[in-house]
Parts: sequence; structure tokens; C-alpha cells
Amino acid sequence: MTSYPDLQLYIGGAWRTTTETLPVVNPATEEIIGHLPCAGQQDLDDALAAAQAGFAIWSRTAPRDRADVMLRAAAIMRTRQDEIAHSITLEHGKPYQQARLEVIRGAEFFEWDAGEAVRAYGRVIPSGPGIDYIVHHQPIGAVAAFSPWNFPMSQPARKIAGAIASGCSIILKAAEETPAGAMHIARAFHDAGLPAGVLNLVFGIPADISSYLIPNDIIRLVAFTGSTTIGRHLTTMASDHMTPVLMELGGHAPVIVCEDTDVKAAAVSGSSRKMRNAGQVCTSPTRFFVHDQIFDEFLQHFTDRAAATVVGNGMERGVEMGPLANHRRITALSEFVDDARNKGADLMTGGSRINAKGYFFEPTVLANVPDSARVMQEEPFGPLAIVNPVGSLDEAIERANSVPYGLAAYAFTNRSDYANQMVERVEAGNLSINTLEASLPETPFGGVKSSGYGREGGTEGLHHYMVVKTVSHSYTIV
Ligand code: NAD
Repeated sequence: MTSYPDLQLYIGGAWRTTTETLPVVNPATEEIIGHLPCAGQQDLDDALAAAQAGFAIWSRTAPRDRADVMLRAAAIMRTRQDEIAHSITLEHGKPYQQARLEVIRGAEFFEWDAGEAVRAYGRVIPSGPGIDYIVHHQPIGAVAAFSPWNFPMSQPARKIAGAIASGCSIILKAAEETPAGAMHIARAFHDAGLPAGVLNLVFGIPADISSYLIPNDIIRLVAFTGSTTIGRHLTTMASDHMTPVLMELGGHAPVIVCEDTDVKAAAVSGSSRKMRNAGQVCTSPTRFFVHDQIFDEFLQHFTDRAAATVVGNGMERGVEMGPLANHRRITALSEFVDDARNKGADLMTGGSRINAKGYFFEPTVLANVPDSARVMQEEPFGPLAIVNPVGSLDEAIERANSVPYGLAAYAFTNRSDYANQMVERVEAGNLSINTLEASLPETPFGGVKSSGYGREGGTEGLHHYMVVKTVSHSYTIV
């Protein structure tokens, strides 16, 4: 098996090291597995200059040629699936088989956006005689992007794919906890023949990098995935320069379980999905609002499934859930559980850290959680589910909408009248009924309210990376 890669910055088509580094820790063992090179001011200046030069080349490269490079890079990622997955499990902790699937999902983002590159059509507006109004979609410029640690490969893939397909250049700061996923992407593009400067990868202290890049005139778009707090901060910084943003922020997904559903199937599906990626997913199903009539049965199946989750080192066969990504999440989860219990919630299973070594936390189910508990408003971002009873669909929708977030929402029902009501009234960017899949490369994904601004994926995914230019062209001078 391959070892963890030697981490480097990628600027202007070349790899470089730095004298200042931060340790990268395996969350399952707490061992140091790598040294993160921290970009200094000169590195960032070089990245900006490279992105400017890269944009000049790439924005004038035919979409078909851009797509070819992207498809070649995606094919390379697929052939390196095992090597990349190995790095992801080491740095993030998720089970190896899930890391392998993430590599494929990352490749799919590039493949979908490669197709979109050649379909980013403008239009001709009928008018005349003797004059054409033509709408062009042109790449916006150099992008400063920031990706988080929960999906080390597919999160950076989304941003890089959107930028490169549109003809933009990009400086990506990948998460300091999980740098290898993004490095493997840069390697694949390097080997696929991407011109120098189109993709630049930096690491380091997040606030230092964002505050240096965002105010720079070369940067024409800020794309971020992470917490709402940081998203707001970056949006404020960007707005001072009238730089547009693409913000994919937190969620606190409700799941409305109606009385007509298959109770056991919904409970088992919801419980196992909740524990995927140790609950560290912005679309993770978290607040289950279950009709009174089926509440007890649902809660029992849900709790049994959660308690049966096999937790361990993601490198071990049969493990379903790895550790949390960092120690901050252990502290946050413990505080949410203690607060909810103090306010009267029932702890059905879990609630504690598992070992003294490694950031493992038990799959946790809280029931009958009062609205005053912090976790009813704040995203737990961990393996913690809330199961509460409701008396009607109206009540469930009202509770679903009662948080500042509006990213993913889910429902289990076979009734089309219930489904219609939820489509009309649930405040979310993505609503999934009888499935807990919220996002695919071909579907637009993003939030409303404090969950962010803009969409990634689907046809809409390239919109933010492009600007509209309207050309009025008269055949004679008028
Ligand atoms: P955090 O808010 O400290 O960091 C979240 C991400 O933002 C990290 O990747 C970090 O590198 C980056 N970041 C932090 N400060 C930054 C700055 N000034 N400039 C640029 N980037 C910056 O939180 P955390 O403890 O790492 O993660 C916990 C919270 O983050 C969760 O509660 C969740 O809401 C959110 N999160 C969301 C997603 C998502 O997919 N939407 C992914 C990871 C984390």
C-alpha cells in the first residue's frame, strides 16, 4: 500500500515546499502523518500572478479543449482510486470503501462539468431589422476558493471543476486537516496537461490566506464551503471590493416522517445515513420529526440501528463509521449532548467519546429534545440525531423551518398531497422524498437562508463562474 504523500504547494504549474509547516494528524490514531507546507506572502503573490497568467490562457482556450483536459484528469483520478482513497482515510478517518466512492464522485464532478463546458450557451435576442442583441457567457476571472475537510477529494473537486470548466483560473486553499485529497487532484491535472497557472493549490493559516487573497483585484470570485460564521466573514470581506461570492454553508436538515410510511425502512435508512461520514456532512439528516402514531416504533428501530454501527479505524474491514475529523468536534458534540440532557432530552444511545486515543464518538440518538436545547438550533456536524414527535404535517413543516438554515430537507411519505405541501412550504435548497441522497453532479445543490448563496452542480453550477455580456451589434451606424 502507498504511503501518505509528501505535501507541497502547487503554484504556476510547479511544486514547492515551505520552511513553515503544520502537522497533519491521523484522527484515528492521533499520529502525525504529514507536514503541511504553509504559504507565505511571496507564495500567495506568486499564486496571484500565476492565476492571472493562467486566466489569460485558459479563458481563450476552446471549451472542447478544456473539456478534454478535464476528462483526461478525471480518468487519471479513476486509475489512482486506491492510492487517493488511502490518503483520504489516513487524513480524514472515513472507512476506506467510502473513501474509494468519494474518489469516483470527485471524478464525476469533473466529468459532468466537462460536458457543461461545451454547453454554456449564450442566446440571440430577436430584434432588428439590422441589429443583433447577443448574450455571451464569459468566464469571470481568477477564483479564490476555500474547501473544507469533510470530503477531502470531492469538496475541492466541485470548486475546481466549476472554475476550470468555465474558463476561469483558480487558487484553492484546501483544508489544513485534509490536504492530500486536493493534492491528488492537482497532480492529476498536472499529468493531464493543464496549462501552468490555471490551477494553484495553497495551504496554511486560513485567515491569513483569505484576508490576503480576497481583497486583491486579481480575484473576481470567492467560493467557500464551510461554516456559516466563516462564510459571513468572507462575504463581508468580498463585498468591500464588490467581489461576488458562492457560499455553500451549514445545514441542519429536517426529516419529516409521515404516518403512512414504511416505519422500519425509514428508521433504518435514516439512522444509517445519519452516521455516514460520522455525521460530518452539511446535508446530514439530523432533526427527525416523526408522526405521533409511529413515533415509538420509529425511535426503537432508529436507535437499534445507530447502536449497531461498527465504529473504528477506517482502514479496518467492516468499519462503518470512522473517527471525527478533529478534536474540536469531540468537544462540540459532548457539549451538545450535555446541554440537551440537562434540558430534559432522553439519551437513547451513545453520547460519549469512545477511546482515549483517536477522535471517536459514539453514534448518538437524543429523543424528545426541547426547543430550548442548543442542538435544536445549532448544527451538530457529528453522529448525533434528534428524534421528536409531531402531531401533524403542519407542525412538522413549521418545526422543519424553525432554524436559520435551509440546505437539505427530507421526507418519508407515499402520499402525493403531503409531498406537494412539502415542495411548496419547506424552506430548503434541496428536498428529497423517500431518499436521503441530496446531491449528484447533475443536480444543482445549495442553500437558502443562512445556508448560503448560489448553486454548485447541474447546469446552474457554472453560472457563478461566468458573467453575462450583452452585445448590441448594428449592421450600420445608427
Ligand atoms: P471552522 O468554521 O473553523 O472552519 C470551517 C472551514 O473553514 C475549514 O475548512 C477552515 O479551513 C475554513 N476557515 C476557517 N476560517 C477561515 C478563514 N478566516 N478564511 C478562510 N477559510 C477559513 O469550523 P470547523 O471546526 O473546522 O468545522 C465545524 C463547522 O464547519 C461545522 O459546524 C460546519 O458548520 C462547518 N463545516 C461545513 C462544511 C460544509 O460542507 N458545509 C464542511 C466542513 C465544516
